[in-house]
Amino acid sequence: MIPKLSALARDNPVPKKCIFAGCRARKTKHPVSLLELESVSKSFGGVTAVNNVSLTVEPGEILGIMGPNGSGKTTLFNLVSGALVPEAGEIFFQDERVDGLPPYRLCHRGLARTFQLVRPFLGLTVEENVLVGLGYGREKLTGAPARVKTAELLNSVGLGGRSDRLASTLTVMDRKRLELARALATSPKLLLLDEFMAGLTPSETAAAIRLIRDMQRGGLTVVLVEHIVWALLDVSHRIVVLSAGEKIADGAPTNVAKDPHVIEVYLGETI
Ligand code: ADP
Ligand code: MG
Repeated sequence: MIPKLSALARDNPVPKKCIFAGCRARKTKHPVSLLELESVSKSFGGVTAVNNVSLTVEPGEILGIMGPNGSGKTTLFNLVSGALVPEAGEIFFQDERVDGLPPYRLCHRGLARTFQLVRPFLGLTVEENVLVGLGYGREKLTGAPARVKTAELLNSVGLGGRSDRLASTLTVMDRKRLELARALATSPKLLLLDEFMAGLTPSETAAAIRLIRDMQRGGLTVVLVEHIVWALLDVSHRIVVLSAGEKIADGAPTNVAKDPHVIEVYLGETI
């Protein structure tokens, strides 16, 4: 007798997709984190930039990452976004193993980032910059629907009315807004912001915090690296601290700010 397909499927569950031949299916835990790093390491020559780091990002949270210069924050973002491949460890996004995938495939799965040094297409207009993100993102919007969506995105980041300006003529804050609109145009589930608030005035920083909160309320999960400690502690639900590539703290902002080890290596004094 030929068994029914449903019975076959029940008795022979398909192992979770894995990008590496020979690796084992994952023991799923519930609830599933949006992003999970397990013992991830990456070195450059003799420098271990990220050393055996494990962390999770839960759906809907704002996770802040802080640490001194050279502690591995940008390298961590490069590993998560596919610009670098870890030497050891595993990275899971929505419970699927993703380390080794190129950035465009991670983008199509819903992961977007902004760069420490913003990189708009300077010779394109504000609108054209966002249209590029829409064309390459998850939804691949073009034509009239893309223009409508671009106007919405530019309004949401505070660039409404400036769509015809050349990107090269924008202020630092407005270039950051544009970088954000371009990242949001790819319809991310997880957004990585690398020093988004660097170079902003206090009132611009407050505006950036409001923007990040608005995005999170709209359903986005955000991981941000920042040196402006008050802003990071204010906006984040949870903080991870790196020092010399290692994770030295992971917890609520109030607890992390009081942690003696964090104070010693980074803060210098109690906040
Ligand atoms: P952070 O963002 O916390 O300032 P980075 O991740 O940029 O730190 O750098 C961590 C360490 O790795 C530093 O010692 C840095 O010099 C080194 N590093 C980062 N990227 C590279 C690279 N592409 N080549 C060589 N060394 C690198
Ligand atoms: Mg950095």
